[in-house]
Amino acid sequence: MMSILLPILFAFGIMSLLAITFGALNRVTIETRQILQGLSFGCGAIAAMWVPVSFGDGILIDGRAIIVGLAAGFGGWKAGLLAALMAATYRLHLGGLGAVSGVAGIFTAAAAGSIWRVIVRLRDAVKPVQLLFLGALISLNTWSVFLLPMAVANELVWPVVPVLTIGALIGSLFMGTLIERERRMFQTERRLTADAFLDPLLGIPNRRSFNALVNRSIETAEDGDRRALMVLDIDHFKVVNDTYGHEAGDEALKFVANLATEVVGDQGHVCRFGGEEFAILLETRHFDSAAHISETLRHRICVTPVELNGTQINLTVSIGVALLEDFGKVAMSELFRQADLALYRAKRSGRNLVIFADELEILRTEAHIDLTKRRALRDAHNRMREGRVSNG
Ligand code: GH3
Ligand code: MG
Ligand code: MG
Repeated sequence: MMSILLPILFAFGIMSLLAITFGALNRVTIETRQILQGLSFGCGAIAAMWVPVSFGDGILIDGRAIIVGLAAGFGGWKAGLLAALMAATYRLHLGGLGAVSGVAGIFTAAAAGSIWRVIVRLRDAVKPVQLLFLGALISLNTWSVFLLPMAVANELVWPVVPVLTIGALIGSLFMGTLIERERRMFQTERRLTADAFLDPLLGIPNRRSFNALVNRSIETAEDGDRRALMVLDIDHFKVVNDTYGHEAGDEALKFVANLATEVVGDQGHVCRFGGEEFAILLETRHFDSAAHISETLRHRICVTPVELNGTQINLTVSIGVALLEDFGKVAMSELFRQADLALYRAKRSGRNLVIFADELEILRTEAHIDLTKRRALRDAHNRMREGRVSNG
C-alpha cells in the first residue's frame, strides 16, 4: 500500500511546488519565462522519478508525464521541450528495460500538452473539463508500453494503462487547477494594478501614475534633454455641466483628453490630474516644441467643435507651462507650483491662453534668468501667440 501511496503523495507535492513556482515566474519577462519554466518543470519531472512505483526490471511509473505535459500546456512548447529533454536524459540515465518506452512517453506527453495549448488557447479561464481533456491527451503516452518486448507489454497493459490514464486525468486536474489559480491571481493583480494607475472615465494615466512617469522620465533624461510641465484647465467647465448636464460634461472631458493625447503624441505623457484639470509632461530637446505643442493644443481645442446633447459648442482651455532644465535641482513640487501660477495668470488674463512660468519669472526677477534663454523663450512664445491671433 505504502509503495503506491508514497509516490502519489510525492508527485502531488512536487506538482504543488511547481504550480507555485509557475506563479512566481509569471512576473519574469516573457523571453526568459519559458526557459525558466522549462527548467523548473524539468527538475520537477526528474524529482518525480526519484520515488516511482516500480514494476520491476526498470519499468517505472511516476508523475513525470503529467508534469512535462503541463509544462508544454501552460508554459508553451519551449518550456515543454526543455522539460522533456531534461526528463528524458534522466530516464535514460536510470536505464532498465523501460528506458526507451519511458523516453517515448515523455515526448508524447510534451506533444500532447502543446496540442492542447493550441486547441484551448488559454485566453479565458481554463475549465476543469479542459484540464481533463489535457489529462486524456497526456494519457496517450501510456501506449508507449508497446515499445517494450511484446510479452512484457501484454502483461503490463491491463494494470498499467488504466492506472496511468486515471493518474493522468487526476494529476492534470489537480496540478492544472493549481496553475490556473496562479494564472488567475496574476491576471487579476495586473488588471488591478493597471486600474489603479488609470483614470476610469478617460482611460489615461491618473495623478498617481503621473508622479511615477515624471520620476522615470527625469531619471532616464540624457544630457541636453529638457522637460516641460503643462497644467491645463478647461475654462468655465461648471457652465458646461450646468447647461448640458453632467454626462455631456464627461463627453467634453473625453474630447479634451483625446485631443491632448493626440497632439502630445509620443513627445510626452498626458494625465488627468483631477476634475477638469490635466497635467502634461513634455519630453523635449528644445523648449520651442513645448511652446508649439501647448499653443497647438489650446488652438485645436478652441477651433474644434464638440457635440454635447445635440448642440455644437466650442470649449476653451487655459494652460500654464513650466520649464525644467536643470534636472535634480528643481523639485517637482516647485515645477507644479510654477505651472499652477502660470495657469492662474492665464485665467486672470481672460482664459483661452497659454502662459509660461518663465514669463512670470521675468516679471518678478529680471536678473534671475539667463538673457539668451529668456530671449529664445519669449521669441518662441511670441511666434506662437502671433500664430494664434491670426488663426483665431
Ligand atoms: P475656470 O474657468 O475658472 O476653471 O472655471 P470652471 O467652471 O472650469 O471651474 P470650477 O472649478 O468652478 O468647476 C469645475 C467643475 O468641474 C465643477 C465640477 O463639477 C466639474 N467636474 C469635475 N470633475 C468632473 C467629472 O468627472 N465630470 C463632469 N461632468 N464634471 C466634473
Ligand atoms: Mg476649469
Ligand atoms: Mg479646475
